[in-house]
Amino acid sequence: MLAEIKGLNEECGIFGIWGHAEAAQITYYGLHSLQHRGQEGAGIVVADGESLKGHKGLGLVTEVFSNGELQKLSGMAAIGHVRYSTAGGGGYENVQPLLFRSQSGSIALAHNGNLVNATDLKIRLEQQGSIFQTTSDTEVFAHLIRRSMAPTLKEQIKIALNYLEGAFAFLLLTETELYIALDPNGFRPLSIGRLGNAYVVASETCAFDIVGAAYEREVEPGELIIINEEGVHSERFAEKRTRLICSMEYIYFARPDSNVDGINIHTARKNLGKRLALEAPVEADVVTGVPDSSISVAIGYAEATGIPYELGLIKNRYVGRTFIQPSQSLREQGVKMKLSPVSGVVAGKRVVMVDDSIVRGTTSKRIVNMLREAGATEVHVRISSPPITHPCFYGIDMSTREELIAASHSVEEIRQLIGADSLAFLSPEGLLEAIGRPNDSPWRGQCMSCFTGKYPLNTFQELSQLTAKQ
Ligand code: SF4
Repeated sequence: MLAEIKGLNEECGIFGIWGHAEAAQITYYGLHSLQHRGQEGAGIVVADGESLKGHKGLGLVTEVFSNGELQKLSGMAAIGHVRYSTAGGGGYENVQPLLFRSQSGSIALAHNGNLVNATDLKIRLEQQGSIFQTTSDTEVFAHLIRRSMAPTLKEQIKIALNYLEGAFAFLLLTETELYIALDPNGFRPLSIGRLGNAYVVASETCAFDIVGAAYEREVEPGELIIINEEGVHSERFAEKRTRLICSMEYIYFARPDSNVDGINIHTARKNLGKRLALEAPVEADVVTGVPDSSISVAIGYAEATGIPYELGLIKNRYVGRTFIQPSQSLREQGVKMKLSPVSGVVAGKRVVMVDDSIVRGTTSKRIVNMLREAGATEVHVRISSPPITHPCFYGIDMSTREELIAASHSVEEIRQLIGADSLAFLSPEGLLEAIGRPNDSPWRGQCMSCFTGKYPLNTFQELSQLTAKQ
């Protein structure tokens, strides 16, 4: 489904490169392929060996870098960021990479994820004299680095990383080095590749394909990678814990052409569809998926049931972004603008409508109505995730608990509210098995907190405080 109208948003995408004469240009293309992870701001910082220079702005990558700004960003290394703005709020100052200058050198930071203890850390740092320029929790990391008394930047970074709780994939650029770090649970995906002699790093492997880079490996949870003139050096800043990669990356966020932790997203989604067909078959004439994320699922469902897959819903491209339409009524209008039913396909048919998730339920209701108005005789909704009953604290901006329809309604109540003839969600076991991360290894686990309410981190106090506020 479409992120902006669903109320489910990825926080960010990050891209970095070391050792390429066109570092900024490559980063631009990398960010462009990660645009689905954040559309409200973009930025690039380059290092030329002596200084850091950057450009950032609100809007899409093509809008932010439309006037020759890239030409001014010369250097052999760069980091870039695309952002969705809820964590810490919107505004230019929160667009990343954040750039900090000091007597001992500059650092630029790009972060994907969410620090669950950012507020506590900020209060403590402010009590010790820190003044924050942004409301983004990423800035906390910079202050922790600068406050460390360790003798080298690498040691300062390692100490600072150990203060952080939550989900974080960090890129940190100095005049002469690129640092890459992933939290000990590895909530967010982060991969490394090679482009000739250059090194690239990205939230998703689709960014490698677009710049012609070859995938090399995943960044390990708890790993700190340092790239400089001497080459690549890997260290641990923390022992890795059970891998908790976000299930929603597979279900919804990542692009179908990406591999997340070695698993292709299109294949994973097809398997979700096949499993959904096994768990919730129905007699129908056509299967259709809500674009973009559910098309692969619908193909899998169709393959497993033998019901033909058809393009029953079309995404209208080139409409404006709905982030300027925050109210519920306008959000509903946004659905109309962005999706159209194909009457010739659904009229007179019993339709299986496959979608990835139900957040508030209003979008599903609109689509069901749309299909009925286009002549569908029955609409059976199949969802390729379990009901979302709890908020996320690890970098996905979703509705507050009150807004999550599955937090307070049974499946049958939701079915009635969205006006479907039948409704089924994928089971948690089905989700895990279909994605195929073996459960017998703690290093291949995946986060299920928004479906189960079981939060893995040792931050119960912070989480309860946050929940109380919501
Ligand atoms: S709580 Fe849900 S959305 Fe958040 S990281 Fe876990 S699986 Fe992903």
